[in-house]
Formats: sequence, C-alpha cells, structure tokens
Amino acid sequence: MDEYILEVENLKKHFPIKKGVFAKQVGAVKAVDGVSFHVRKGETLGVVGESGCGKSTLARLIIRLLEATDGQIKLDGQELTTLPKQDMRQKRRDIQMVLQDPYASLNPRWTVERTLLEPMRVYDIGSKKERKEKVLELLNKVGLDPSYAKRHPHEFSGGQRQRIGIARALVLNPKLIIADEPVSALDISVQAQVINLMQDLQDQFNLTYMFITHDLSVVEHISDRVAVMYLGKIVELSSKEQLFANPLHPYTRALMSAAPEVNAKQKKERIVLKGDVPSPANPPKGCAFHTRCQRCMEICKVETPKLKEILQGQFTACHLY
Ligand code: SF4
Repeated sequence: MDEYILEVENLKKHFPIKKGVFAKQVGAVKAVDGVSFHVRKGETLGVVGESGCGKSTLARLIIRLLEATDGQIKLDGQELTTLPKQDMRQKRRDIQMVLQDPYASLNPRWTVERTLLEPMRVYDIGSKKERKEKVLELLNKVGLDPSYAKRHPHEFSGGQRQRIGIARALVLNPKLIIADEPVSALDISVQAQVINLMQDLQDQFNLTYMFITHDLSVVEHISDRVAVMYLGKIVELSSKEQLFANPLHPYTRALMSAAPEVNAKQKKERIVLKGDVPSPANPPKGCAFHTRCQRCMEICKVETPKLKEILQGQFTACHLY
C-alpha cells in the first residue's frame, strides 16, 4: 500500500480585499482555491504553473507560514491546520524548504558551519561532537569541501550557496522537502548539477520532494507525478509520463507547446495563449481558463469543471472530458 507523507484536501487561501475607513471586506483574492492532492513517501511531486497561479502560496500554507482559509493538511497522518502554534513549531522540523534565492535565506554573518549547526542546536539534536560530525558529513554529501565550513555565504557561487541551502534542509532529517523554484536563479549548466544532486540525495536518503517551478523541462527531469496549477486550482494531475505523452487539459497543452525543449520532442503545433492570466481577485466565472481557451464552449462560461479521473491516474478539470 502507498504510504502518504502529505495529504492536502480542499485547501483554500482567500486574502480579503478591504476598502473604506471601516476596512469593510469587499472581495477576496483567491490565491489557492480548493486544492486537493497527496504526496507519497519517496516520490517527487512537481507543481507547475505561471507566476501568480498560487503555487508558492500553497507551499507557505503547508508549512503554516500562512493560515489556511479552509481545508486540511495532513503530514504523515497528522492534521496540521488545527495544530497549536507551539506544537507546529516542533512539527516544522519535519518540513524543510529550499528557496529560490539561498543568499537571501542564509545569514551573511554566519559561517556555513554555524548555519548548519543552528537547527540541530534549536531542536536539541545530538551532542556537540555529533553535530559537528553531521555538518562535515552533509557538506560532503552535497559536494562541498568540508574545509569550506568556516567560510561565509558571500565567498560562494550561486550554485554552491544552493548546495548549502540543500544541506541545511537535510540537517533535521525532514519527512518532506518543499523546493520552491530552487534552480531558476542559476545558470543552465549549474541548474542541471543541482537537480542531479537533489536526485542523488533522494535516492540515498529516500527523500520526499514537492518541487515547485514554472519550468516544464525541470519538472520533466525531476518529477514522478505533476500537478498543473492555474489561478489557484489544480487543472491536471498525473504521472509525469502520462502528462508529457498525452496532456489532457488545454492549459497543459498550451504550456507544453510554449516550452521549446518539450515542444521540440513532441513536435506539436504551437498554441499561443491569448491575453494575460486574469486577476485572482476577479477570476472568470465557470472554468477560470475559459477567457484564454481555444476550445471554450458555452458550459465553460457558467459551470466550474471538477477535477476528475479521466484515464487511470490522470485527473483533469475540463468539460471536454
Ligand atoms: Fe477550455 Fe472549457 Fe476545458 Fe475550460 S472547461 S479548459 S474553457 S474546454
């Protein structure tokens, strides 16, 4: 039986829009609007979509940097949304993040050693000697010379800093690592090295990743399954193989046709998406994608399609099916 590390059910985050002297609520930005999915132990779920689709808000909800408006989040069977703040602080060691800009998240005054020691000290893990040994072991694992332990973040390249960010994420043996655009600020050649490193570490430590990116070629490289998001909703969810061989949702097809590397393999006609992504403060009625969809029908303008299993293991939210 599959062992689920993360189970998300009907998760919503609506930011209120307030106006006037009495700050009356006049609307809401539906950044995440009824998202359900799960992540199995040891797998990588890729979450892909254009900027503003809600994928980073989703990450912040899972670690409870933001409180959900509605819905459930279970980590290893335990509900997080109702967990008291004190208990959540303890729980946070089980979910670690790797961010796009490691420089911004590393303390510039701390050496690499202190950066990696601090989480173990906070959570009271191991003796002093064991912690120091763990730092050296992790530096080794992420491909950095242990002699770098006494250096500061500014002495490293972008790729090396991301390796430090990955080592920091690993230091507490988390159950889930959420990587939010971890390679998009890096040069293409360095991107491949960091992705390969993350895959090697996954094999060695049986890590579970939720990998958020706007880049389909990165998703194709690293994911086992993929969730495609549009305006706060998942519009398609399936195994990577099924998704890339036979994308069902018109938005997924348009995204793929616009990704040069993916389209070169698929040799499909380029679908040009008209217009911008509508505002999540005022999403279109019915299917949120209908204002840009070439296959739009009358029903799409009034009825919101539900995410349904169309082929085995391949879910999509579209009235075409
Ligand atoms: Fe296009 Fe209609 Fe499907 Fe939405 S539901 S993606 S508008 S065909």
